[in-house]
Amino acid sequence: MSNVQNSLDYSLLERLTQTYAPSGIERAVAEQISEIIRPYCDSLTQDKMGNLIAIRKGSGNGKKIMVAAHMDEIGVMITHIDKNGFLRFTPVGGVHITELPHRRVRFSNGRIGVISQEKLDKPADLKLSKLYIDIGAADQDEAEGMVQIGDSAVFTGEFVWAGSRIISKALDDRIGCFVAIEALKRVQTEHEIAFAFTVQEEVGLRGAQTAAFALEPDVALAVDVTLTGDTPKAHPMDVKLGSGVAIKVFDRSMITPPQVKQWMAETAEKERISYQWEVLEAGGTDSGAIHLTKGGIPAGVLSIPTRFVHSPSEMIDTKDVEAAVELLVALLEGPIPF
Ligand SMILES: [Zn+2]
Repeated sequence: MSNVQNSLDYSLLERLTQTYAPSGIERAVAEQISEIIRPYCDSLTQDKMGNLIAIRKGSGNGKKIMVAAHMDEIGVMITHIDKNGFLRFTPVGGVHITELPHRRVRFSNGRIGVISQEKLDKPADLKLSKLYIDIGAADQDEAEGMVQIGDSAVFTGEFVWAGSRIISKALDDRIGCFVAIEALKRVQTEHEIAFAFTVQEEVGLRGAQTAAFALEPDVALAVDVTLTGDTPKAHPMDVKLGSGVAIKVFDRSMITPPQVKQWMAETAEKERISYQWEVLEAGGTDSGAIHLTKGGIPAGVLSIPTRFVHSPSEMIDTKDVEAAVELLVALLEGPIPF
């Protein structure tokens, strides 16, 4: 186990989190991942949706396993530019409107804007139509020289360490990409593994849907973040930061089949990897789309417990990351008992 701990290169995670890749514009992250994984793949392609598909061939006697992690992050898209150069916008993915005032956003060209609000009579009046982005333009002409209708921006949020923990924007789901990359580098197996770095998860699991249809795996595993119940007066949830990788049982997109749950938990126990059960009452992830593909594909999820999901300050614990890499590698290397 210290093996994995000492060899994880978190500077790669830092680069991935700070890269601009809102849903539908994942290219910059795809390019970084390609560069890193190319030496470890038997084939590396991008499909028509933009999913990055890396194949590690098997011995011919194994199964075909799909591993999915999404490259996109939440953001906002410009809908209107007014004569004074202020921008109106719509959310791309699960953005909490009430948390937006005075956050910074960054466009693909590096331009920074600050979100602010019209004068409100009372705080409860805050809604999307009251918000605007100020990019420092003097008027509409100057603004239109910097951004256009339909441009997307992402939230800014520096990558910082807090002891064994990391705080950053876009850990959802660059941490899943990071875990998949590390597993891809390490895994030695008779199974054929198709690593799918997917697009447009945040707007409805769209890339995973077409990737799974094309790949037709025997079994699939997604890697994504999940919420925790370990902060003051949190909604009750039995997932804690630092207590190990979470094995998903349920979310709004899927119910994990008993044989997949059992395979994942027994593998963790055999390898002495700390894990916890995840029952997520809101949201879903790529396995939700994958398991409904063709005649149905058995699918599970390894989740990284994450505080403050969809904020610029998501927080994870590296102990959980290490457990996730270890469990994913063990699952890909072992027999599939169903
Ligand atoms: Zn998300």
